[in-house]
Order: sequence, then structure tokens, then C-alpha cells
Amino acid sequence: MSYKLCEKVRKLEPYEPINGNYRIRLDANESFFNLPEEIKEEIKNIIDQMDFNRYPDPTAKKLTAAFSDYYGLNPDNITVTNGSDEMLYLLASAMLEKESRVVVVNPDFSMYGFYSFLSENAVYTYQKNDELNINVDDLVAFAEENIADMIIFSNPCNPTGRGITADDARKLIKKCENCLVVLDEAYMDFWSEPLLKEAHEYDNLIVLKTASKAVGAAGIRLGFAVANSSITKALRAIKSPYNVNSLSQEIGTCIYSHKEMLQKHRDEIFSNTRELYIQLKKIIENYQLPMKIYEPCANFVFLETDKADKIYEFMLENSVAVRYFKEAQALRITTGSQEQNKEFLVLFEKYIMKKILKTNR
Ligand SMILES: *Cc1c(COP(=O)(O)O)cnc(C)c1O
Repeated sequence: MSYKLCEKVRKLEPYEPINGNYRIRLDANESFFNLPEEIKEEIKNIIDQMDFNRYPDPTAKKLTAAFSDYYGLNPDNITVTNGSDEMLYLLASAMLEKESRVVVVNPDFSMYGFYSFLSENAVYTYQKNDELNINVDDLVAFAEENIADMIIFSNPCNPTGRGITADDARKLIKKCENCLVVLDEAYMDFWSEPLLKEAHEYDNLIVLKTASKAVGAAGIRLGFAVANSSITKALRAIKSPYNVNSLSQEIGTCIYSHKEMLQKHRDEIFSNTRELYIQLKKIIENYQLPMKIYEPCANFVFLETDKADKIYEFMLENSVAVRYFKEAQALRITTGSQEQNKEFLVLFEKYIMKKILKTNR
């Protein structure tokens, strides 16, 4: 008898982001800003001072202080991980008992369901309505019906860009008092309904943040969980001690201390997103296309169309990468710089003229 992979992992495929050398990347919700030269210089100096032979600080003290300072939080309520993805895995595995019941929503970030699957939880999926909104009363009822141990969703949502208000989120947390509620506020920098600052006031809430989106530091993998002190103690206990490497801690500390730069970038990213949305909407209305576009509250635009796969392919052929969602028949277009967005829009219109209008004649 030879070793056989267990059923659960046998059919899995490694995660494959779009690979290839595309000229314009609008597919992964990254920031289009790299770090400014003067900050890169600062980082070079920091690297010069580092003790590479030593393990990193398991409490990430300096980074936690810089992060808390940026968002106005108490450092005692923060746990740092190697991207928020690491925390998502910890929540599904270590934070829950075996065969726990997890409620996710659809459409939403697919990793919630994936880590719950790996951790052998039972996953229950609440379907959003036609406008891609969550009705909080319905979600509460759904969670109660399925005796949820954990509810997890992104707010505002990746990929739809829609969100629930802070009041609705508060209602959900209070009504589901026996259940751990995880609000992934990865994109909340672009919107105005955060529960981040009050996370510690609840018995059953964890708010997640990441450095990968508005902060523009996806390359150094930093995630943050904000919660009351007893949840935080548990999170710090279940994470591996040296999960965040020294380099990322140092660079993250430096980046979060540049508040003005971060806010300026965030504002420009959001205004580019709005402009992209307005221009796309204009094209759709001009040509009376059967497409649905949603007003964004994050750094991307969500577009439903039965031509999503075709447009996606056309964009790739022109070296522009966007994200295609097969099940939803939709595209998610991360904002780029103004020039990049313009190129995308020109191509989009070109596709409409060539392919859609022609065949309809
Ligand atoms: C991108 C994203 C993350 C991942 O964050 P990392 O810190 O890069 O792991 C988490 N949640 C949502 C909703 C995201 O879109």
C-alpha cells in the first residue's frame, strides 16, 4: 500500500492568479501607487540597521503602534498576521471547534469558504438579493436557522463593492450574540461605515484590516485583527509566534507612519475609481447596453454582463488584466492610474463597437 492524499486535498489546485506579463494590471485590487522614492530611501536605511540573525518580534510592537496610531486605536486590541489571509485561516481552523458552523454570503471573497472547507467546518451560504445587498434581518434569521458559530463577510464587499451601513452591522452583531462575527474591512478606507474603532466594545466581533489594498503594500503581507482584549489574547495565542517577518514589520512601521502620503494615495485611488465608474456608466448608457454597473465604495468597479468572459479575453489580448467571475457573469475592474483607466475605457468602447454593435445589426 502506498501513501494516498486524503480525499479533501486530492482534487485541489494551487491558487493561480492571472500570470503573464500584462501591461496594465487591474485584476487584483492592488494599489497602482508604488512607494515614493523618499520612502524607499528610508527603507534602505532601515534594512542597513537590521539584525537578520534574530527572530522577529512576536508581538510586532512597533508595527502595532504605527498601525494603531494611523487609525486611532488601542494597540492592546490588535493582532498582526502575515496578510489577513493568515488570520482567515486561523479563524476557520484554530478559533473554531471541529465541525463548527460557518455562515458566509455570496457573492463575497472566496477565501472564507475555502479555509472553512479545509478546516472541515460546515459552510452555509446566504445569497445576496438582486441588488447584491445584504438584508441584515434576513442574514440574522439565516444565521439563527443554521445555528452559526461564525459569520464572516467583507464590508464593503469584494467583489461587488456594495456594503452594509455601520448601524446594520451593529444590529447584526447584537442580534447574533452567541456567534462570532467577523467583519472584513479590507476596503473600508474607501468608505465611511467602519466599526473598526468600536470593535473592542463587543464580546463577539473581530474587524479585519490589511495593508494590501488602500495602503498599497500587498508585497509585504500584513494583516490586522482588531477585537476586545480577551479575543485578542486568544488570537495572539493561536498564531505562530514568528508569523510576521522582521522586514515586513519594519517596512510596515515606516509606511503607516507616513499618514499624509497614505491619505493622499487613498483619496486619489478613490477619485479614480469614481471617475472610472462614471465613464463606464456613460458608455453603457450611450450604447444602451444590457449591463449592470454598481456604484463603488472601494477601489474597483463591478460590472455584470453576459459578455463578461468575452470582454475579459479581449482585454487580455490587449495586455490589460481585469478579474472575471464566471458564476456571477461579471467583471471586477480595479482602478488604475488615470492613464491606465483611459486605456481600459478606450478598449472597452472599441470592444462594444466591434463585437456587440456589429453582431446586432
Ligand atoms: C484582498 C483581500 C484580503 C487579503 O488581504 P491580505 O492581507 O493581502 O491577505 C482580505 N479580505 C478581502 C475582502 C480582500 O479583498
